[in-house]
Amino acid sequence: MSEKKVRGSLLNSYTKYIKKKWGGDGLKECAKVIGMNPDDISAKEWYGLELSIKILECVNEKGGQEHIEKCGGEVLQDIGAIAYLIKLSDMGTVLKRATTQGYDSSFNFGKCSFQIIDKNNALIKLEDHSESELMCLAWIGSIMGAMKLKKLNGKVTEKQCQLKGAGFCEFEVHWE
Ligand SMILES: [Zn+2]
Repeated sequence: MSEKKVRGSLLNSYTKYIKKKWGGDGLKECAKVIGMNPDDISAKEWYGLELSIKILECVNEKGGQEHIEKCGGEVLQDIGAIAYLIKLSDMGTVLKRATTQGYDSSFNFGKCSFQIIDKNNALIKLEDHSESELMCLAWIGSIMGAMKLKKLNGKVTEKQCQLKGAGFCEFEVHWE
């Protein structure tokens, strides 16, 4: 099996969040943990999944779970084309886009699928995605971020988790 990789643009969103919240010092601490200068991460390149988890661990160390979710929320805001689509489309279309192109452009492993339940609810399934709880939390944050861009109130709940023995991670998404 080929190595699990994530796109640099995703990592750039995470480190941008660190800089925004904890400034240059926060970023320096992160650089020490990951063993490279975050400014050297190129948006178009692919990087090992481990690097992504290390960056999320830096965020967790500094701010805990709440900040992991907020950090995940940055991801969609940074993808201009998706942010534009999010404003124009209904939530179902947004989720479909995020779970097809969005997922495949950021991860070279795992699988994401979604199912619309009704006009206010959907289910998202992530298979072979998470290797750390922080990845599940960041995922919740990115869906919350999509709702925020649409100025919708909503909630994302992880109903079952592959890290806890389920066959896949499943997220219930509800919006008003
Ligand atoms: Zn999970």
